[in-house]
Amino acid sequence: MRKTLKTRRLAAWALALVTIAAGTEGVAAAAERETSPALTEADRAVYERLVRGERVYPDRAYAAPDEPTVYLSFDDGPSKWTPQVLDILREEGVKATFFMLGSQAEAYPDYVRMVAEEGHAIGNHTYNHRYGELYPEYESFRDQVERTSGILAGILGEAPRLVRAPGGSSGHFTPFHFYLLEQAGYAVFDWNVDSGDALRRNARAADIVRGATPAKLPAAPHVLLHDGGNREQTVAALPEIIRYYKDKGYRFGKLDASVEPVQFRYSPGTPPGRPMTEKRFGNLLAEARRIAAERGIGGDSPAVPGEGSREEGPLRLTAGPSGRSATLEAGEYELTGGRFWVSPARLAEVLGADARPAEAPGGAVTVRAGKRVIRIDPALRSVLLIDLSGYTKRLTLAEMKTVGGELRVPLRTAAEWFGSGVARYDLAPERHVELMPAGSFAPSLAGWRAPLWSGPERNRPSEGAPSSSGRPADGRLEKLLWGPAAIVLAASAAVGLSAHAAAAYRAR
Ligand SMILES: [Zn+2]
Repeated sequence: MRKTLKTRRLAAWALALVTIAAGTEGVAAAAERETSPALTEADRAVYERLVRGERVYPDRAYAAPDEPTVYLSFDDGPSKWTPQVLDILREEGVKATFFMLGSQAEAYPDYVRMVAEEGHAIGNHTYNHRYGELYPEYESFRDQVERTSGILAGILGEAPRLVRAPGGSSGHFTPFHFYLLEQAGYAVFDWNVDSGDALRRNARAADIVRGATPAKLPAAPHVLLHDGGNREQTVAALPEIIRYYKDKGYRFGKLDASVEPVQFRYSPGTPPGRPMTEKRFGNLLAEARRIAAERGIGGDSPAVPGEGSREEGPLRLTAGPSGRSATLEAGEYELTGGRFWVSPARLAEVLGADARPAEAPGGAVTVRAGKRVIRIDPALRSVLLIDLSGYTKRLTLAEMKTVGGELRVPLRTAAEWFGSGVARYDLAPERHVELMPAGSFAPSLAGWRAPLWSGPERNRPSEGAPSSSGRPADGRLEKLLWGPAAIVLAASAAVGLSAHAAAAYRAR
């Protein structure tokens, strides 16, 4: 019995590979027919979703804080009030985030430096905050963001990645705003607790405290305060606000791009400005990716080989009890933005998974890990997963890049694709990541339990974000990519490896 099942599994595995290959050829042929120089097939699929008013979220893992965390933010500064806010934060020993206006940073560059030197985070709040100039369309917003990036980079040495829309994104941003800013390497943060200090002209300190400390707190409060404008009452309210969160046991976090953002729900009534044609989108997308590449951000830009790992030691990977290990020399991996990037084939090897390397430099890599087949395709920036018991999932816009012809993916994320995970890691005295055995990481399995035709559930940021519809997407690309999965399911059934049989096999 065991032998028969094993044979069937092998047959299903072989069929999966054949059908994936067939499906990919179909995609390639279709791309050849329709690809314009401006947009790849994957970018066009994104365009079609954005133009329908759908948000498209990045495949990004966020660091979950391990204790209750509140994020205080101060907008519209710096101003003459900023030093007083800094004094209070220093006395209380807490950190915060300052979303600065370019015009104010020009006027108070010393305060910009002071905020950075005291260890707070700095974000971009556009140049002048004037809605009439910011929100006619994406380009007008981008112009002010880039202008402010230049000003802050001139003072700080680098441009902040955080962006907050004056007045918030709701009613101002279309899905194109979110997507293009993300592609340019920015992280957009709204808030979920408004202190009300700027809502009324003469808000009193007591009202501000009340606003900043609502009875029903979100899981991670992102509190909106201001240090620009007349902020006497905010300064008066601040110690009590901090006391409130301290008494409740909160840690005070500062924002960075690894914090799961709060983003307001996109309101379909947002004035769209000029129609976003495919050509205009293509140009803006290319520009956004150029901006990210210039700053060394993002998975689209080919990284300089060895970037971030020059003069750093090798990285040792080990897999739990199996004792398998591999050592990646400097240059064979990189440590960028706090994350390790590795070849999926090397990672698969350590996990004891079978990897089929790319046929050509920079091509797709196919990995079999347990009952999963995973195809990582840099041309489409997609990851197709097929569970041989009949479940599939496709991740679009997955983070990956090609370095010297070798595909690289973020280690932690890829380990989860393979049903593993990071057990622990060290940076010193040596760089070492210990992986869980493939298939041992139960929580990630839950993600694959999407029925075949329900469409992929998106990994999304947070509260306030609209939930994905779960409907099958109707683009042709979508059908092409889902096609092979259907064939695998049929083929699996044909060789007797139906979901039922697979469940029986698992039960042994
Ligand atoms: Zn503001």
